[in-house]
Amino acid sequence: MKAAKKILILKYRITYEKLYLCRLKILKMNAFKQNIKVIAFDADDTLWDNEPFFQAAEHVAASLLAEYGTPEEISKSLFDIEMKNMDDYGYGAVAFTMSLIENAVQMSRGKISGTDIGKIIEAGRPLVRLKATPLKGVRKTLETLKKSGKYTLVVFTKGELLTQENKLKRSGLLPFFDKIFIVTDKKEEDYIKLCSEMGIAPSELLMIGNSLRSDVLPALNVGAFAVHIPAEVMWQHEVIDDFENERMLRVGEFDKLLDIL
Ligand SMILES: [Mg+2]
Repeated sequence: MKAAKKILILKYRITYEKLYLCRLKILKMNAFKQNIKVIAFDADDTLWDNEPFFQAAEHVAASLLAEYGTPEEISKSLFDIEMKNMDDYGYGAVAFTMSLIENAVQMSRGKISGTDIGKIIEAGRPLVRLKATPLKGVRKTLETLKKSGKYTLVVFTKGELLTQENKLKRSGLLPFFDKIFIVTDKKEEDYIKLCSEMGIAPSELLMIGNSLRSDVLPALNVGAFAVHIPAEVMWQHEVIDDFENERMLRVGEFDKLLDIL
């Protein structure tokens, strides 16, 4: 009898917690709807897949270096080189290919052949020619949001100008956006600048992206709202500890945005 009572209390507790979380989500969604004027979308790994292709290129380069180190050593060395080069090269496919080459020269202590350097360059080339096929639900969701006329839709992405412009053209998503911002980095000051260029207060901006580090956290820190859509594959540099925030919601799939907005 006692056990049955305990189970009943537990069931009530679980239901109460579920109701509380549900109510919290509704409150958040109302705040989103009341405040947002501009929605900014991250591009890579939010609108289309990107990181898996970078990892494929890294895999090709690493296979050419097998005799010079373990996969872990090669991968760590590449990451260190990417971080060292960040201030000079920034983010992007060309920067990444340069780092792949530098890592090959460094790991092999200059012994890597010209033929193998050529193979690394070829492994990097598809990264600037990505088809940028929209992820599931992206096109339909953007179309619906655009038709609603409730929000101004923009792209806010970091990377190399030409590569990002070309991917946007190939994706076929350009008609849905009022403005495209391709920037070197997405730090707090970049979000402030975005808001001032759009003529809005940060509290009227919603940022949507896959990276807690560059899409969500700096946007929240300046007072904007954010939706996190986790990607299956993440670049080590973008990974930070998970957290919750009253101005952030998380959805599993892109089209779930329509439930919020
Ligand atoms: Mg991204």
